[in-house]
Amino acid sequence: MFLLFSANIAAAAQPIIHVGILRNVTEATVGSKGLFEVGFSKTAQTSYYNHPITIKIKNNSLYVDSKKVISDRITLRTEDNQVLINGRKYRGTLEIINNAPKSFAVVEVLPLDEYLYGIIKHEISPKWPEEAIKAQVVAARTYALKNFGKHAKDGYDLCNSTCCQVYGGLESEDRISNALVDATTGEILTYQSELISTPYHGFCGGYTEDPRNVWEGLTKIKYLPIKKCTYCKKAPRYNWSARFERTKIESILSAGGFNVGKIKNIKITDKSPSGRAIEIRITHKDGKILLKANKFRLLMGADVIRSAMFKIKKDKDAYVFDGTGWGHGVGMCQEGAKGMAEKGFNYRQILQFYYPGTEIKQWAL
Ligand SMILES: [Zn+2]
Ligand SMILES: [Zn+2]
Repeated sequence: MFLLFSANIAAAAQPIIHVGILRNVTEATVGSKGLFEVGFSKTAQTSYYNHPITIKIKNNSLYVDSKKVISDRITLRTEDNQVLINGRKYRGTLEIINNAPKSFAVVEVLPLDEYLYGIIKHEISPKWPEEAIKAQVVAARTYALKNFGKHAKDGYDLCNSTCCQVYGGLESEDRISNALVDATTGEILTYQSELISTPYHGFCGGYTEDPRNVWEGLTKIKYLPIKKCTYCKKAPRYNWSARFERTKIESILSAGGFNVGKIKNIKITDKSPSGRAIEIRITHKDGKILLKANKFRLLMGADVIRSAMFKIKKDKDAYVFDGTGWGHGVGMCQEGAKGMAEKGFNYRQILQFYYPGTEIKQWAL
């Protein structure tokens, strides 16, 4: 059987990425607007459909429209390189991978830049100045390559959630940010010729953070120092406040696996030169709990206690966290990148500011 549709992606001289769109699912509908080709790994057979098909898994086997197939990998290819997964539009081709016994994954296969098209809008607004968007594109491209193969054991490189980078496919694309992905094609950040990790966050609130103060088990990373940043001052909701009743904190901590009695006080016991809390001590009726401020923040709700740059005050039987910043504070401050671009800095200068000592290089196959 000949292949009706040519492999469009093979023509693109850039890395091909496998993105896990549906993971650990037992049922999915896939297809396209027109005719599409379905290939079966084991038999090398192909079939053509012009209506969406339903994939299911039962007793270790995949089923296409209730018909059992012996292949563990099914591919789906369309003429216009547009596919539908549960009604949502994506580019490229699809692979359905049997992760027996109980579930399968639907994986989108596409060139790296087309993947980036579906990332940027989830990070920053396409209405931001172009130089800030370009800085975000280069950081996101570097991040993707650095984390390539993170989910290799499940049959794809990256997933589509915050675990990797939030990715929304064709429906998340924007004409302007797509053009800026194209304008910076192949550009990545390196330090001493090595691909770097490029963390970024909403806004720092005055100082970026040393990653060792946020995550455990790290050694010093030269290109991620604490930097004074005055560029994010205009960020919306620059200052925030979160109030928790004592009993609420107790129930969150105990749901998080901590053995906690009636809380007597909560104190910051270690603070970064950036102004962020590093460690929190919770004294309760039966003892003490020491935990990393970032971990505490994630437990309480990352969108409620938005960063570890806070002060704690007691108010009756509640605790109030007054803070600034959004996110972990490491690497590029996104609102700061916007502020720098508005002041006339270009994306190279923005990246150099937040990842000092790094170099932009052209990715090579
Ligand atoms: Zn992931
Ligand atoms: Zn900042």
